[in-house]
Order: sequence, then C-alpha cells, then structure tokens
Amino acid sequence: MDKKTYTSRTQDLERLDKEYVWHPFTQMADWQAEDQVVIASGEGNYLIDTEGRRYIDGVSSLWVNVHGHRRREIDLALMEQLSRIAHSTFLGLTHEPAIRLAEKLAGISPPGLSKTFFSDNGSTAVEVALKTAYQYWQQRDDPQPARKRFISFTNGYHGDTIGSVSVGGIDLFHQVYKPLLFDAIQVPSAYCYRCYLKKEFPSCGMSCLADVEEAMSRCRGEAAAVIMEPLVQGAGGMIVFPPGYTAKVRELAAKYGILFIADEVATGFGRTGSMFACQQEGITPDFMAAAKGITGGYLPLAVTMTTPEIFNAFCGEYKEKKTFFHGHTYTANPLACAAALANLAIFEREKTIETMQPKIEWLKENLQALYRLSHVGDVRQAGFMIGIELIKDCDSKEPYPYEEKIGIKVIQTARKKGLIIRPLGDVIVLMPPLTITDKQLREILEKTYDSIKEVTGA
Ligand SMILES: *Cc1c(COP(=O)(O)O)cnc(C)c1O
Repeated sequence: MDKKTYTSRTQDLERLDKEYVWHPFTQMADWQAEDQVVIASGEGNYLIDTEGRRYIDGVSSLWVNVHGHRRREIDLALMEQLSRIAHSTFLGLTHEPAIRLAEKLAGISPPGLSKTFFSDNGSTAVEVALKTAYQYWQQRDDPQPARKRFISFTNGYHGDTIGSVSVGGIDLFHQVYKPLLFDAIQVPSAYCYRCYLKKEFPSCGMSCLADVEEAMSRCRGEAAAVIMEPLVQGAGGMIVFPPGYTAKVRELAAKYGILFIADEVATGFGRTGSMFACQQEGITPDFMAAAKGITGGYLPLAVTMTTPEIFNAFCGEYKEKKTFFHGHTYTANPLACAAALANLAIFEREKTIETMQPKIEWLKENLQALYRLSHVGDVRQAGFMIGIELIKDCDSKEPYPYEEKIGIKVIQTARKKGLIIRPLGDVIVLMPPLTITDKQLREILEKTYDSIKEVTGA
C-alpha cells in the first residue's frame, strides 16, 4: 500500500513507535526500516488496523486467543469484575475469582493435579515448576538433596527468563545466554523430519527414547525433574512427536523416580484438540505449567498445577521454613481470573473441543496440498498447531540461509493478502483461534499457499 494514503494518525503512531518502542524477538533495525501495521481493534477471528484493513488472526495473537476477539461473555465478565475490584494481593488474602478458577482447573486437568499456584506468564509458570521440583527433593520427608538438575530436550522452549532459558534447547534463542545459565542435562527430542538417527517412524520403534532413558538412568541420583512440551514442541518449530512418545517419556521418568514437568503453556486450553495435550497421551504429570490460552487471550495469567504429594512436602511448622518463598506482585489478578472463568465457560457451553474435531480432520486432509510446492519440506499438525517447514532443497532437506529471511518474507506477503501469521525461522506457523470457521480456514490455507509460492518461486 502507498504510504502517502495513510492517515496522519497511523503515520504519527508508526513514527512514535519507532522512536520509543523496543519490540520482542525483533531485529529493531529492520523494524525501523519497514512499514508497520498498527492494530486498532479486533472482531471475532479478525484483527483490524488503524487504516481499517482487516486481517485473519492466523496465529491467535501469538497463540493466546481461543474464542475470538471481543467475546461478549468475556467482555461482560471483565466489566462485572471491574465493578467489584481490579486487583487485590494474593499474599495473605484471597478472592473468589481465583478460588473458583483453581477449583475449575482441577476439574478439567489430568487427574491428580489438584493444587494450583498462580503467576502471570508462561515463563514464570515454568520457573515455579523448576523451583518447587528442586525444593521438593530438598525438604520432603526422605530428602534427596543431590537431586538438583533438570533433564530437558533439544528444540524445547519454556520461556525467556533465566531458569526457563536454562532448560531451553533452541540455540538461536538460548546460546548467547549460556554463561548465565544453570547446566541442564539435554537429551535429543524426536524431530522425525530431521531424525538424528536417520530412522523413520514407525519402523524405528522410537529407538531415540533409548538416549532419553540412558540420560535418566545415568543421572537418576541428581535429576530433580525432566521438563518437556507434551505432544508438540511449539517454538522449536511445531515439532510434533510421534504418538505415544510423550507417554513413554513420562513412563521412563516414573521408572527412574524423576519428576515430570509438562509445559502446556502452548498446548493447553484446546490447542491440540483436547483440553490439555497430556490427556491425549493419557498421562498425569507431576507438574503442569499453563498460560497462553487460559484467559482466552485477554490478560496475562498463568498456573503451575501439581499433586497433593508435592504440595504436602511444603507444609510443616513455620520454623521449618518449608514455605515456597516465591510470588509475583500480580499473582492471581482478579480480572485475569474472571476472564479465565468466562473462557472456560465458553468451552463448556459451545462444546469447543467437540466442534473443532471436524476442522482438525479437514486440516489434516487439506494441508497435504502444500506438498505440491517444491520448497515445502514438511507439514506438521497437532490439532490447531501447524508448522510448515520450508527448505531450499527438497531432496537434501537443505535449509535456506538464515539471512535470506524466507519465513519473514512469506508472512509479509501473507499480510498483504489479509492474513497475519508469524514464522519460527523457516517454519510457517498457523495457529488460528478455535472458533475459526470452515470458510476462514480455507482462506488461511489458500493465502498461505499463495504466499509461499510467490516467495519461493515454485
Ligand atoms: C510461550 C511459551 C512459554 C513462555 O510463555 P510466556 O508467557 O511468553 O513467558 C513457555 N513454554 C511454552 C511451551 C511456550 O510456548
């Protein structure tokens, strides 16, 4: 679009942004050189910018939106809560929205996870799991103080704070911080398209799990917990594990007496086609971190859920100092909790999980069309989490050079077609709100196909 046709309001905002703002995961020199979109409002599954242009929200505003924007039920719940109180502390006081939410979460989570610790984002939810897992071993009745290390997976992503980066496995994001981090025991994850054992599923029999077991066996006396994203590694590139893989890791952890932390920050709240990904694998973790979809994409809120067994190890006489000395100022913010309750009520009323099943099937069939493009190497799907891996050469699976910014070019092209998506390196991510219609889904796929074709040339 011709810049000169922009209203002065858009021009002003863009200029002020470039003067005063620093954006996350963004090369700001590029940002300042490019035209930017200023979002003014949302409506259902659409975002609308200050020029009145409409875009499908193809990544659910970075994986958080669930039932569309400006959902009347959530809007009303927030207004109702606002008429009572916006915030009151959770240190030494409590309030109804958080109490009701904790009860509700216990009812929809894998059985056994009845205790909820609140925080405000995915990284903090992971920090809480790491710290409590460690502290549990320090102070349980039969303490094992040597257990203070964590097993994590390559290509894993658990957030951007120092603890969660320590258990991260994405070199591009994490390498530079290495000197600041604690040393995790990293095991290879099942990235079947680029299998490090050069095998194929299912004939491989998931033999890569032998390396996971070897690490657990070797470190059994010093490992506090293993942390993984169940079913699919999100930020690592939508790397979908073979069915049964997550359950097997959980089983191995139990075998070696290592706690299992499921990071459901991305997968939770319907994303993969069940309320939580762990439920598809029929497992209960010792800890479950959840955040992104919890408020329907409205407000920052996160939870770390655990079992009474873990919880009880923190109960004791005051003087024993078994308290979990951790908390965030806005912990269990009442507005966020009210939004979360309204979000969960919509799941029930609209049978969201049921309604999305035929759409998941439709996607499974229709995503195949992308393989007609000669630079599409792999298309991965777990429910409404989709990754399209672009490669320079399909036979050798050679990736595009980093500086070619192939993923960024594709999403910029899609944007001109009215679709907002985000790449993860060379992986194009599609993650629509769960309320996406059949027609909108078709539109997303068409626009994505055309954008990849335009940019890659074939
Ligand atoms: C996004 C994400 C996080 C971090 O959540 P923030 O709210 O961005 O801190 C942690 N784990 C997973 C799996 C995520 O996708």
